Amino acid sequence: MFNLYDLDFPQLSQLLANLGQPAFRAKQVWQWLYQKYPATIAEMSNLPQTLRDALAERVTLHDYTIAAREYSRDGQTTKLLYRLPDGKYIETVLMRYDRRRTLCISTQAGCAMGCVFCATGQMGFLRHLSSGEIIQQVTYFARELAQTGEHVTNIVMMGMGEPLHNYDHTMTAIDRLTAADAFNLGARKITISTVGLVPAIRRYADEQRQTPLAISLHAATDEERNRLIPVNRKWPIAELIEACRYYIEKTGRRLTFEWALIAGENDTVEQARALGGLVRGMLCHVNLIPLNPTKGYGGRPSDPMRVQMFQEELARFGVTSTVRVRRGIDIQAGCGQLRDRVVGTST
Ligand code: SAH
Ligand code: SF4
Repeated sequence: MFNLYDLDFPQLSQLLANLGQPAFRAKQVWQWLYQKYPATIAEMSNLPQTLRDALAERVTLHDYTIAAREYSRDGQTTKLLYRLPDGKYIETVLMRYDRRRTLCISTQAGCAMGCVFCATGQMGFLRHLSSGEIIQQVTYFARELAQTGEHVTNIVMMGMGEPLHNYDHTMTAIDRLTAADAFNLGARKITISTVGLVPAIRRYADEQRQTPLAISLHAATDEERNRLIPVNRKWPIAELIEACRYYIEKTGRRLTFEWALIAGENDTVEQARALGGLVRGMLCHVNLIPLNPTKGYGGRPSDPMRVQMFQEELARFGVTSTVRVRRGIDIQAGCGQLRDRVVGTST
């Protein structure tokens, strides 16, 4: 058995041709997959029953089960824990804000990067997700939202995993989600967040992709960043910033830097000044996010005074920043955290 969302259009056409179907069937099935999001193959009502039976014997539509579902107290954030067929778990979060319906999706089960403050990093790398497994997180919620006449309006690749470590599957998923004849979401509505894999950032820049990029910087000196983000030893800050400049030059697009503020760690005047000096004059914006505490890390979020000080210090360098409140903090919507609680850390 394999998943229909893992197929591209030529592969789907081939599958249906092998089942003796006329050429127009592929388009019909494609429309179901990306515009109507059925829960079962049986729901594809304009296909002959014999074809639905034949497909159901060979392929699946949704090969995961929902292991947990939680809502934030204000009801605006929904978090799902999926169990994949091989027993791995991934998370997807839906955030409702004004008219926006933003999905935070995963690209890997676990993560190999080992950032010390991150619940996903603390569990280690389990495996890459296929493009279909990335897409299904979106179509699942698209189906749910459609029931109230709503749509997925934005996607952030800030769930579990490092998207640029799973480069090909992530880009295939993005291509499918943005294709006019598939899910048809604007490329600018999908943000990729990366810990800073330098060769992949350069490749991404060369490909001139329209999807915005966010860099998880979190520290402005190698000494501090090495402590938080192990891959900094491989690609230190100078190389990372050079790749960021290359990206901006190639694409003309503004970059976002992510910075999780950790009390007494990276929220100091020295770090703020180092960051200001580093990115001054760049086409960029800084997102400041007070740390979401995790089980495996003792750090605490910075208090609001510190956050303000940090922001003011950046402003002196002409660097703009926004303080982001982690939505759904009461359901631990930080990546990897729901899985921790439901499944435990040993799986
Ligand atoms: N691997 C990618 C994307 C997934 S993590 C990356 O690292 O960018 C998405 C964002 O959440 C990153 O900016 C990451 O640094 C941040 N993050 C992870 N754990 C966090 C925590 N406990 N508190 C605040 N932000 C966290
Ligand atoms: Fe991986 Fe991102 Fe977590 Fe780092 S912050 S461990 S790169 S998911």
